Amino acid sequence: MMRSGLIILFMSCLFAIQAEPSAPSSQMIEPNRHVVIAASTLLDGKGGVLHNTRIVIDGSKITTIDPNAGPVDYDLRGLTVLPGWIDAHVHITWSFGPDGKNAGEGGTTPEAGYAAASNAWLTLMAGFTTVQDVGSPTAVPLRDAIAQGKLPGPRILTSAGALFGQGEKTGTPDEIRAWVRKQKAAGADLIKIYASGGMTRGTMTMSPEQLNAACDEAKKQGLRSLVHAFRDAVRAATLAGCTEVEHGLGASVADLKLMAERGTYIDPQAGLLLETYLQYKDKYLAAPYYTEEGFAAMKKLILAHQEFIKRALQIPGLKIVYGTDAVAGAHGRNAEDFIHRVRDSGVSPMDAMVSANSLGAEALGMSNQIGTIAAGLQADIIALSGDPLKDITTVQRVVFVMKGGIVYKYVTR
Ligand SMILES: [Zn+2]
Repeated sequence: MMRSGLIILFMSCLFAIQAEPSAPSSQMIEPNRHVVIAASTLLDGKGGVLHNTRIVIDGSKITTIDPNAGPVDYDLRGLTVLPGWIDAHVHITWSFGPDGKNAGEGGTTPEAGYAAASNAWLTLMAGFTTVQDVGSPTAVPLRDAIAQGKLPGPRILTSAGALFGQGEKTGTPDEIRAWVRKQKAAGADLIKIYASGGMTRGTMTMSPEQLNAACDEAKKQGLRSLVHAFRDAVRAATLAGCTEVEHGLGASVADLKLMAERGTYIDPQAGLLLETYLQYKDKYLAAPYYTEEGFAAMKKLILAHQEFIKRALQIPGLKIVYGTDAVAGAHGRNAEDFIHRVRDSGVSPMDAMVSANSLGAEALGMSNQIGTIAAGLQADIIALSGDPLKDITTVQRVVFVMKGGIVYKYVTR
């Protein structure tokens, strides 16, 4: 029921725009020139709530919030309107292969390419208008196609690969700095570093000197650095001045306090990732990373992550962003981690929203572009059927998606 309405609207949007006589000759989809949205409840992305107002959009940007603006193009009264969500950690190109098994994220077959485009579409339809891909170079052409308006999908920032810590073999500090510069030349928006083993065991896989070289060079190149870190690697990444720690399980209260002092962001996961693995165990099960032993530990690990988030919430000033680590089977389900955070991990519904709005934008260095509904920012606007502050499962009922002034989804009632 929802789906047919959506497809018809999307198609009609395409035709309506292409039929305009003044449309540019390229095949790119352009935003409408002037759109007014009416909202009865609007979360501004920073923790504020506005009632009975209107958002005015010209082209790709919000020009004003004015309760007297009109005429109304989209009447979203009765819904909850908020900025499009930001997922700080996805693997957008990761899919299952034609044999049904986990194909990873670096595939270059036609199937892998279409699967990645499908992941992008599903992610956008789920209300995520910006995602940060921290995986494969294959996300670069997908990012560019979406940015050029040739494919529908969220705005993508990508690390275009990653530095895998492997002790001395990772390289000398100078070699690591050269690698960071090479990543920038290859189009990376940020640097991704694996500085420790997996969730349950293993020590740091890089020395503090190596980690320092990576994050310091990233900073010199104007790039942020995201570090996969558990246990002692969390403190090391913080001391090395890296931008954000991914996962973080095993960090002590003292480590988390240090992160808060230094302004290091933390991006923990609350359940979607591990539930996805469990749900698709038959597709993932394969040595050396996905073992029976590993799957047996996952249920307990979900609880351990949720306990970790509860502890992190106790640290004043610690900036906890929203990143799902979406892998094959999880794309388009990104909002499920909100439910785990609120229902199972003690996060307040408003903090959960802000973590994927203004705080998420701040962590990307994009506060002046996205994450808030305010004049001058990108018109990334979604609407939910219900009130996520009262019932967090509302995040799964996304009925309107606008990105950069273009409406991609509008399920009419
Ligand atoms: Zn990941």
